[in-house]
Amino acid sequence: MKPSMSTQENEGPFLGRKMKVNLFHPLIPESAIGPVNEILRSKWIGQGSNIAEFEKRFSEKFKTYNPVAVITGTAAIHLSLVLAGIGPGDEVITTPLTCPATNHPILYQFARPVFADIQYETGNMDPEDVERKITPKTKAIMCVDYGGRPCDLDEIKEIALRHNLQVIEDSAQALGAEYKGTPIGRIADYTCFSFQALKIITTIEGGMLCVKDPEKYKEAIRRRWYGVDREAPKNPLFGNFDYDATEIGYKYNMNNVAATVGLEQLKSFDSLFSRKQEIAKRYNEELGGVSGITLFKQEKHKKNTYYLFPMHIRNRDKVAGKLMQKGIEVSVGHTRNDKLSVFGGKFLNLPNLTRFSESVICTPIHNKLTDEEVSYVIKSLKEAVK
Ligand SMILES: *Cc1c(COP(=O)(O)O)cnc(C)c1O
Repeated sequence: MKPSMSTQENEGPFLGRKMKVNLFHPLIPESAIGPVNEILRSKWIGQGSNIAEFEKRFSEKFKTYNPVAVITGTAAIHLSLVLAGIGPGDEVITTPLTCPATNHPILYQFARPVFADIQYETGNMDPEDVERKITPKTKAIMCVDYGGRPCDLDEIKEIALRHNLQVIEDSAQALGAEYKGTPIGRIADYTCFSFQALKIITTIEGGMLCVKDPEKYKEAIRRRWYGVDREAPKNPLFGNFDYDATEIGYKYNMNNVAATVGLEQLKSFDSLFSRKQEIAKRYNEELGGVSGITLFKQEKHKKNTYYLFPMHIRNRDKVAGKLMQKGIEVSVGHTRNDKLSVFGGKFLNLPNLTRFSESVICTPIHNKLTDEEVSYVIKSLKEAVK
């Protein structure tokens, strides 16, 4: 059965459930259609010059360390672990409050994710618990900017420095965020962004790995494409086909179609970003102080992207049910990773996470939300918590 346009528009993540107000909505600018058409008709649909152009514009715009465009955010995370030299038996301290894509790549390397507790009032990793979880096997800290709010990066970096650990930041939700005035992408040893369909900007699927060390950057460029240095001198007799592969390589390069979409998305970034700030401001102002709702901590030294708008709600399940009935799609966000079978399938003793998971709710925030819809969410939420 072919769904009509209108049902497609209204479907939540669970097919068939109709919602008036969706939690997320992808957005591809109209201006991308022309350039994408052109690329699709060209010879350069895979590797092509828009990839380097996208990297250049990206790092200029966000002032990041050396950018490496890849096929997914997960690929960026995996590549960062490879570059950091994470291998069998190593431990990586990470957060359980994230997309499983943060932690699967640790298993790809036969290393072990060690889950630290989070902060109840931000959803980010608790640096004090990170320090408690360090053992002689620990090699890296993987921190996630939950919902687009930067982690406590000074504290995390200071711990890493003292214990000689690398810092990998999963900033899939934090493009455009800042920590004490420094852009995310210019703080950790490795920063990983995602351009998956619902992220802040999308290339349908895509990611960017920002690498601090220039030698590691060159290695990343080789490893994303079969372990081959495409720029190395070639034997002219045999043309492009005579090359060496110097290390284990992957097929992680971004394609030229995705890069073309990315270039157009960069142009809309400022308006996409500021619209979410506007919506978040209304939620913060109009829901602050409402009995039954606890907003997250305000941190002046962090610029938050508001990829998610989480809050703590009294009688969460009941309130969520009421909102869904009113056609407002809400979510508890990420499922705690420690209870996923692949990561052990046990609820670990992480008291803040447990308390957090019982009361958190994420309300709709995306670039297709109208002011009226925001008002409707606010009004409905106030009624539902009464
Ligand atoms: C989206 C997301 C990822 C995965 O990115 P993909 O591009 O889908 O591979 C990883 N971590 C977090 C926190 C995410 O939100």
